[in-house]
Amino acid sequence: MVGNHKSGRKPSPEGASERSKKYTFYVKEYARTNSSGNIVEWIEDSYFQWFKRKHGAQWQEMVRAYMRWDVQQWKNNHHWRCKCEPIGILQNYKHNRVDKCHACGSWKNKAAQVAQMSQTQKAEYYKELMGGDNE
Ligand SMILES: [Zn+2]
Repeated sequence: MVGNHKSGRKPSPEGASERSKKYTFYVKEYARTNSSGNIVEWIEDSYFQWFKRKHGAQWQEMVRAYMRWDVQQWKNNHHWRCKCEPIGILQNYKHNRVDKCHACGSWKNKAAQVAQMSQTQKAEYYKELMGGDNE
């Protein structure tokens, strides 16, 4: 492996604007003891063993792939997008428990907007929906 082992960073093949950062990933091990109770072996968590068995040298890439998949599902299924400029990591994603963006005034959906209306506003809104001022 190229690079300084102390830094935990490798030169990236993607170019000067990207690099990889090393994180420590703990995997649980279980002690196997002999009849005298002495530890003779440490055995890795079996899910991790199976994961490596299935994916081989690609196991780290699969961890990254599952992370991307999980985040995409969460973003798509539990967030909505307001009309703010998409800036930063959160861009204009709002969590579903947030009904309104107080920066741009967007509502999650019509139901959330109607739910916060006063009785008078609701009456006006439904009257409009039904086709205007004919009473
Ligand atoms: Zn907004």
